[in-house]
Amino acid sequence: MVLPTHSNPTAPVFSHFDLTGKVALVTGGCRGIGLEAARGLIEAGAKVAITYTSTKPEAAEKIAEELSAANNGTPVKSYKCDVKSKADIEATVEQVARELGNGHLDTVVVNAGIAAHIPAIEYGEDDWKQMMDVNLTGAFWTAQAAAKVFQRQLKEGGDGRASIIFTASVSGILVNVPQEQAPYNASKAALTHLAKSLAVEWVDFARVNCISPGYIATDMIGTLPEEWRKKWPELVPATRFCEAAELKGSYVYLASEASSYITGANLVIDGGYSVL
Ligand code: NDP
Repeated sequence: MVLPTHSNPTAPVFSHFDLTGKVALVTGGCRGIGLEAARGLIEAGAKVAITYTSTKPEAAEKIAEELSAANNGTPVKSYKCDVKSKADIEATVEQVARELGNGHLDTVVVNAGIAAHIPAIEYGEDDWKQMMDVNLTGAFWTAQAAAKVFQRQLKEGGDGRASIIFTASVSGILVNVPQEQAPYNASKAALTHLAKSLAVEWVDFARVNCISPGYIATDMIGTLPEEWRKKWPELVPATRFCEAAELKGSYVYLASEASSYITGANLVIDGGYSVL
């Protein structure tokens, strides 16, 4: 088992971030953090596919067209896919590789996720199942589907330089305020450990890392009670919410040769929240 060496470590550092010719898939890429991750990968030169579930197909198509147009026509395609379904995500990953990469895939951003603000004592079976099915099980099926493509590429003579990036959360490291997000926190803690385990098991054909954001200004913040949305910035050294676009460079970094020796890592982007 070996982690591939950097393809050209002595080249100017800017070139280490270049994703020209690479193919990437971002789950939940039609809005929020996923959309910005997709934008970053496209700006770095990759061909990108984004998935959606509740977004309307026409809206998803429009987002893909806008992303493509903003980047000199770099192809961007949208795919409807529910990560809760193993069959659905496996078919989507294969379809993306076929349609964008002629069978090849380089990066998967496992980003689709949900949050809920419910007291743990009131949590129902369906609430729990939904949370784990999307945030943990769905993330695993996504990574596994990508790993099957990456392993096949290696067997066919590929260089093993693929990247899986999970969007975890600072809530997977500490008990975030507000409380009453215990199952969400647990799903993200499990996801972080899953990523570390996969980094070891899949070292031959993929680097596997997490990005753990603090509170980012997306639709998901709408699930928080108003009082916490007002209070939270006061609890962060950065004293503000993070804009989703501030994360896109980190996704490019972990997808690119700039991070060739980084695997099993968890990049925390939380404005200093977790150091307090
Ligand atoms: P949004 O609610 O804006 O986006 C969530 C995305 O996940 C959407 O694109 C949605 O698709 C997709 N999604 C949800 N359920 C499924 C499913 N079953 N199958 C496929 N896709 C699905 O939230 P964010 O952008 O904020 O969240 C993105 C990730 O970042 C999540 O994993 C979240 O837990 C994590 N995160 C967010 C933080 C924040 O403060 N915002 C902080 C830390 C982590 P569709 O558009 O079709 O509905």
